[in-house]
Amino acid sequence: MQKTTYTEIHSNILSWYKEHGRVTLPWRNSSSAYEIYLSEIMLQQTQVKTVLERFYFQFLEKFPTLKDVANAPVDDILKAWEGLGYYTRARNLHKTAQATKGKLPSTALELEKLSGIGKSTAHAVACFAFGESLPILDANVKRILHRFFALKERNDKTLWELAYRLFDQNNAYIYNQSMMDIGSLICKHKKPNCSVCPFESGCQGKANPLLYPEKKVKKSKPVRKRFMVIYHHNDLYALSQNETKLLGGLWAFEQVESFNTKEKNVTQLGDFVHHYTHFRLDATVLLVNENNKKREYFSFEQIENLALSGADRKALALLKGYIS
Ligand code: SF4
Repeated sequence: MQKTTYTEIHSNILSWYKEHGRVTLPWRNSSSAYEIYLSEIMLQQTQVKTVLERFYFQFLEKFPTLKDVANAPVDDILKAWEGLGYYTRARNLHKTAQATKGKLPSTALELEKLSGIGKSTAHAVACFAFGESLPILDANVKRILHRFFALKERNDKTLWELAYRLFDQNNAYIYNQSMMDIGSLICKHKKPNCSVCPFESGCQGKANPLLYPEKKVKKSKPVRKRFMVIYHHNDLYALSQNETKLLGGLWAFEQVESFNTKEKNVTQLGDFVHHYTHFRLDATVLLVNENNKKREYFSFEQIENLALSGADRKALALLKGYIS
């Protein structure tokens, strides 16, 4: 494609953003690097609507600055993150807050050295908060590039090259924000709306956008069958802090692969299914009357204030139904 055509496309994007860009999003009206960084982390795995309605403002109310995040125990961060999932993000946010003493560095190179900040997030924060002229490469941008360049193969190295090639370095802020908006509003996963897309004139994949990128072969998720055991004693219930990579720091009921459910002190509370990214949990929840000094016991009210995973919340709901 001729360079002039890229110039035309850049000009189309600027006009499009003026009219259709999501300019009212709160993090686009903030000059705080922390608020911009927080939005980028929350949006990594979660939709804008969910972040806006249930998490972003609530989190900022509890932790108005990155220093507040640094000074808080990680348990409090996890509690505020509860429901957003992908808790590694929250632990990394806390690590980064402490490592930087609440003040983020201003270049992508420095940002990328911090926990949980990959290349694209580093570029986004550097661009949106500090004015550095760099392209981003999130899931929306990748989809546009695959289609614009009619590229089937999923290869990040190639995509970064193409991201730089198409990038409007003179209008980095608007270009990057537009890429996110166009990816989510127009060049959608299943129904791209090419007739209103500012990339349309140069798009090599527009005749059949769904060909790009090639489909991933879907594997069915493995199923883990577990007993979730709630040990109780005198209206107190045992939990311990999870040490797995997936849910580290969250409080959890005990999970075991086998349990003798015929014992006298065992009550079955019910079953539930919980979906994780890489597996499905089929759980049977048991209430077991047993006092063990090695365990930490909590009242029901205390448990409600602990940070729990989605699966443990489901078990807690079954317990609530049983005791109320
Ligand atoms: S023209 Fe169509 S396929 Fe190409 S980037 Fe726009 S919406 Fe996507």
